[in-house]
Amino acid sequence: MLLISDLHLDQSRPDITEALIWFLGTVAPGARHLYILGDLFEVWIGDDAPNPLADLVAARLRKLADSGTELYLMHGNRDFLIGEGFAARCGARLVEEPVLLNIAGRKLALLHGDVLCTRDSDYLKFRQMVRNPEWQVTFLSQSVEQRQDFARQAREQSRQATSSASSEIMDVTESAVNEMFQQLQIDTMVHGHTHRPAVHDISIDNAGPDNTSRQRMVLGDWDRYGWYGQIDEEGEASLHKFNLSFS
Ligand code: MN
Repeated sequence: MLLISDLHLDQSRPDITEALIWFLGTVAPGARHLYILGDLFEVWIGDDAPNPLADLVAARLRKLADSGTELYLMHGNRDFLIGEGFAARCGARLVEEPVLLNIAGRKLALLHGDVLCTRDSDYLKFRQMVRNPEWQVTFLSQSVEQRQDFARQAREQSRQATSSASSEIMDVTESAVNEMFQQLQIDTMVHGHTHRPAVHDISIDNAGPDNTSRQRMVLGDWDRYGWYGQIDEEGEASLHKFNLSFS
């Protein structure tokens, strides 16, 4: 099983799109499952908005799906408006977080990761608003131009908030991570979002006598490097990176 997230695909970064096409044609074939854990796209204002980049990506994902790899698409905080229509064009199944899996007896949870950043209360308020189905119906009923304006403003606000907030806010809260491990009774958590790729060993003292080594794998954002996580047949997690400049 392979996992990627936070590609933030955008017309301004054709090198990242190229890297994805390379990944889908070189690394991914043969994998039984590919999970995309959110923020595949930098912005998404609805499946109906004309988007040549999305058309290209859908065609390439479709090709992988047709070759036998099962594709799963999860929303991130940027592309939470991706709908069933686009997922179908990719040959992917749209999945809700957390995805819970059992691989060789190891229990895993997959999520985007923004809900773990509980210190960013302004963002969590925004999230609550935009994840509301009624808000989404209203938003999607607006013209493409109106939706583009909103997305531009939201990005600008997010950029300003990010540059003024302490970098601590952008990382996960340890207590939120521990709570999720205990609530879901999992051994391994995989998420992206924070752009801090790493595999962390987790020990939770009061988790009970069967508490062995738990892991939290954080996928990387695609920028200087492309990143992917792998879960092998034994349920072991590993993180891989490759150089983004091929030429
Ligand atoms: Mn994100």
